Amino acid sequence: MVEATNFIEQIINEELSSGKVNGTYTRFPPEPNGYLHIGHAKSLCLNFGVKEKYNGKCNLFLDDTNPSKEKEEFEQAIKKDIEWLGFSYDEVTHASDYYEQIYQFAVKEIELGNAFVCDMSPEEISANRGTLTEAGKESPYRNRSIEENLRLFKQMREGKFADGEKCLRAKIDMASPNINMRDPVIYRILRETHYRTGDKWCIYPMYDFAHPICDYLQGVTHSLCTLEFEDHRPLYDWVGITLGFNPKPRQIEFARLNVTNLVMSKRYLKKLVEDGKVDGWDDPRMPTLTGLRNRGVPAEALKDFCNRIGISKANSEVQISYLEACIREYLNANAERAMAVLKPLKVTITNYPDNQTEELDFDINPNEEIKRTRKVTFSKNIFIDSDDFSLAPPPKYFRLKKDGYVRLKNAYIIKCDDIVFDKDGNPVELLCSYVPESKSGSDTSGIKCKGVIQWVEESTCIDTEIRQYGYLLKDEEYPGQDFGERMNENSVKIFNGKVEPYVMENDFDKAYQFLRTGYFKRLKLKDKEILSEIVSLKDNFNK
Ligand code: ATP
Ligand code: MG
Repeated sequence: MVEATNFIEQIINEELSSGKVNGTYTRFPPEPNGYLHIGHAKSLCLNFGVKEKYNGKCNLFLDDTNPSKEKEEFEQAIKKDIEWLGFSYDEVTHASDYYEQIYQFAVKEIELGNAFVCDMSPEEISANRGTLTEAGKESPYRNRSIEENLRLFKQMREGKFADGEKCLRAKIDMASPNINMRDPVIYRILRETHYRTGDKWCIYPMYDFAHPICDYLQGVTHSLCTLEFEDHRPLYDWVGITLGFNPKPRQIEFARLNVTNLVMSKRYLKKLVEDGKVDGWDDPRMPTLTGLRNRGVPAEALKDFCNRIGISKANSEVQISYLEACIREYLNANAERAMAVLKPLKVTITNYPDNQTEELDFDINPNEEIKRTRKVTFSKNIFIDSDDFSLAPPPKYFRLKKDGYVRLKNAYIIKCDDIVFDKDGNPVELLCSYVPESKSGSDTSGIKCKGVIQWVEESTCIDTEIRQYGYLLKDEEYPGQDFGERMNENSVKIFNGKVEPYVMENDFDKAYQFLRTGYFKRLKLKDKEILSEIVSLKDNFNK
């Protein structure tokens, strides 16, 4: 027996030992009406985690019962995102694959006296549903004969009625304390072209009726969903019991993932895209999986995050810094080191020979077991980051200052002898001298130098725009406010930087650590290619 790490696995373990189930079959059930976001990653890790742990099966089930909002584009994007995370599903299924069977099950409910065709409009139905303290009113059509219901339902399918003119309702209990059980609508008339079935159907099953049937037909054992469906479980069970499903799938609810600073609702994300607040679904600030991928968040780090926050029954909000810590941990171990300057400041090494260049050994990643190096070009003319130089250094300032020493990473120790200012008094060039015997790896200078800074060589470096992306929402100081009020209008910082050529020769997906700044990657924008930050090096997570 595997060790349970959450309450769902505990339930599964109990069911396996009692013989209630003899294996697991789960499904990930997105509606193809938008792109997946980080909340879906939690559901994916849970459903595919159960599959992996119990050697079970897991389907990708597209819940496509809402033709006005669903598209092939979204289905394809969902598949791509799941593959990116490295999960492989056993089958791809759709609610629409089962429309005929769902229809036949509805006929069966009618035959059992469990469903009736209702002529009330959607507005009348909701007006008669009652409240939490008051029972609803029964529909005047509730006691139609089975024969009449069968005939009318068939005519609904045949397109004899206008949209909304009739619907099929379950006959349960208008006085139930659970409003979902008050004769819920299970089929509606809707003339809307479906992205898979076209105009074949003009009636569509409601989610609450279709879902338990599709689970059953796929052989799902555990139907895992988020807490807002807890009140729908009695209806889920009612469908399975009245239709005699054996074995009947079991619905279990878990808490949604909420993360500070991230918008986690497809509806809002769609609005951001439509209003042009972001550059599409894959904008690096978007919490969509395509956005996170484009930002450079490794799939492994995202899965690690989902597994560490775990599965619970209580809603809560996770700090964005926790996600960042997971990304940083992964990249620290795996990202190559490279050099770039966001705010270039020219440095001339006055005592280095003119027209000379040198190929120095640069450490690819100090965390690797077998150390690797690559060559970087060094010369008299370099750039450092102006943040690594201070005119008014605080005490214990170990980077470059007038008359101070600093080590250029994997190169030499230099000393700042003089500063050239522009007419506004800003430093524009540093005149430095280097210590020839201080070369990294063979330093015999005897100079103790605490600071190490990065640099790029003038004739070989590449000018590039460098961006630091923030998040779309201001942080947790604004709980409960509408997303519109919490929007962070300053979610991108732009620099005209310089980077060593190596970075621009490699894949767009490859991440690099730049000393003291952060992890970066190449990014394709509509009109140019730039470098963008995945996550800063500064660790704000201390809880
Ligand atoms: P949204 O509210 O963003 O539109 P949704 O629940 O409507 O999301 P679906 O496509 O229906 O999106 O979701 C597919 C699966 O992912 C469902 O099982 C749903 O419960 C789960 N899911 C969606 N959002 C989250 C979240 N924030 N945390 C955990 N699971 C989620
Ligand atoms: Mg949904």
